[in-house]
Amino acid sequence: MTKIGINNSSNVVAWRELSAEGQENLVAKLDYDRIILKTINAFAVELITIPSKEKLAWYLAREVVGKLGFVDCVVYLMDDEKKLLRQYAAIGEHKNPASDEIANLLEIPLGEGITGQVAQTKKPLIIDDLEKDDRYISDIEPARSEICVPLLIEDKVVGVIDCEDQRVAYFNEFHMEVLSTVSAMASAKLKLIAQSQAAVMAEEMVRTRDSWLRSIFKNAPIEIVLKDTDGHIIAISDNVPNVMGCDKNDFIGSTTADFLPSHIADVYMAADRRVVETGIPSHQEIKEENDGVTRYSLSEKFPLQDEDGVIVGICSLTTDITDLKRSEDALREAHDSLELQVEKRTCELMEEIDERKRAEEALLNAKEEAEAANLAKSEFLSSMSHELRTPMNAILGFAQLLQHNPKEPLSETQNSSADHILRGGNHLLELIEQVLELSKIEAGHISISVDHTPVRDVIDHSLNLIRERANRDGIEIIDQIGRDDLPLLWTDDTRLTQVLLNLISNAVKYNRKGGTVTLTCQELPDRVLRISVADTGIGISTEKQDNLFKPFERLGLETGMIEGTGIGLTITKKIIELLGGHIGFESEVGKGSTFWVDVLMSEKRDTDIAIVNMATSPGKMIEELDETGSQYTVLYVEDNPDNMELMEVIIGCIGNT
Ligand code: ADP
Repeated sequence: MTKIGINNSSNVVAWRELSAEGQENLVAKLDYDRIILKTINAFAVELITIPSKEKLAWYLAREVVGKLGFVDCVVYLMDDEKKLLRQYAAIGEHKNPASDEIANLLEIPLGEGITGQVAQTKKPLIIDDLEKDDRYISDIEPARSEICVPLLIEDKVVGVIDCEDQRVAYFNEFHMEVLSTVSAMASAKLKLIAQSQAAVMAEEMVRTRDSWLRSIFKNAPIEIVLKDTDGHIIAISDNVPNVMGCDKNDFIGSTTADFLPSHIADVYMAADRRVVETGIPSHQEIKEENDGVTRYSLSEKFPLQDEDGVIVGICSLTTDITDLKRSEDALREAHDSLELQVEKRTCELMEEIDERKRAEEALLNAKEEAEAANLAKSEFLSSMSHELRTPMNAILGFAQLLQHNPKEPLSETQNSSADHILRGGNHLLELIEQVLELSKIEAGHISISVDHTPVRDVIDHSLNLIRERANRDGIEIIDQIGRDDLPLLWTDDTRLTQVLLNLISNAVKYNRKGGTVTLTCQELPDRVLRISVADTGIGISTEKQDNLFKPFERLGLETGMIEGTGIGLTITKKIIELLGGHIGFESEVGKGSTFWVDVLMSEKRDTDIAIVNMATSPGKMIEELDETGSQYTVLYVEDNPDNMELMEVIIGCIGNT
């Protein structure tokens, strides 16, 4: 392509005044101008048919700029969102190997490089030597000079046309003028394309919205009615004719009053008027009563406004809530009846509670009365001690006297009768003693006096009292408690003796001929001494064991040969518990039983304290007195005449009085 120097002021130079070379140059320039004019004309015509900005970009680069003698042209369009220029078409060596394809899809941020700056400043630029310009961003191959013009729509940059050349200072004013013309035409076309695209999109949007509206009208579960401000129906949802039982076409143009009874239509129309007058949406529950049928509806209305906010109609949404209302009513009724039931049940419960309280109180009173009666019984029995024992002693004493009076010896039959009196009397006396003892304990009339007590003393004392009976029954007593270094107990020795005596005497009583009774003791934690009495006797069956400590329980031995009262273990348990201890047992039928008592120990051992000997038995004292042969006086205090007489006879039998 020939480079042409242009001098605008030379247009009027006369042909004949030019040199041959000048004339040649002028002809060449005129030829070039014609090409430009033709190209731009063609462009102007073609522009009309170019449909899109992509096609415009390629047409610009290839057909327009290329034909104008530019060897390189890139068209950038603006991405407004990302604020960058993106290549849409590129013509030049290596820039588009295939048609409409760009080898290097350059994206240039606004303000960067020469193109970015032209887009930012909106001013065209010619750079004569790119090597001296550090703004230059090279494409595939670096160039030496560049011309860049913006594409503007109403002062807004929408892209740039950028041309480069390998020659230094190639581009001039003329190029700038041509490219600016092309840019202005392209910009105008871009504007038209944008407008038509917007129109297409708007049309599309209208169509889309129309189809949305149709879908809403078709599928909405509520009744939708659009009216103008005078209440004339413009559109209805598909379900309205079904609900109203009329044809769809009957509705359009009519008013509510045309298809609803006046008393119902009035309510809806009044609501319509309010919405038109105030512009405020309404929300109302309406009860429609027509021909004996009741329908409840929820009516919601809001104004339809044009772009300027002027009210042009009403949108009315109606939901049939008859079923909902009925369910609500049923629910309310159920709720009310439930509340009634709850109230009734609460009253019943309160009454039941009151009744239970009264029963509990009555039970408590009965228990207290029973306890008081029991206490009264115990008090009575304990106070009867003297009255019961005294005649019994007289009976036994006189019976013994009958048997042992050397002056009037009994016949064999009389002797045997006296034996019966004595056995029965003794048993009765034991029963009386034990009933009285139990009553005393229950009435709280027994006194406990605890002290340092040697174990050995209590054991020995108990054994002394039972040994004779054991020998008589052929029972061996094995004492394994030992004699040395035993702990001292913190207990009442008399009461503990009573406890052990009962356990040992039971072990002897309920043993078998030739059996044994073994005594052991064992120190347990917390200063407790366990004293055990094991026998080889009849044992106690598991079923009977629960009743063992109940008063008057003989566990099936009531009619047997072994005498007993069934109170011993009851008393024993109560006493050991009063002493702060416990009682327990293990037993197996046919093999024997082991009863044990846990007794509190003192802090001292028996080596720490002088052991006080037990009192000498009165029988022995009388023996000693007899040996002296001296005379003594006996003071006997008695209020019972029978006993006084008995004592006189006894003393009479002893003699020397
Ligand atoms: P009693 O011996 O006067 O009947 P207890 O209260 O001492 O009264 O004993 C209640 C019952 O427990 C006895 O009648 C007897 O059946 C049973 N029992 C007590 N100790 C033993 C024992 N060591 N072996 C077997 N049975 C016993």
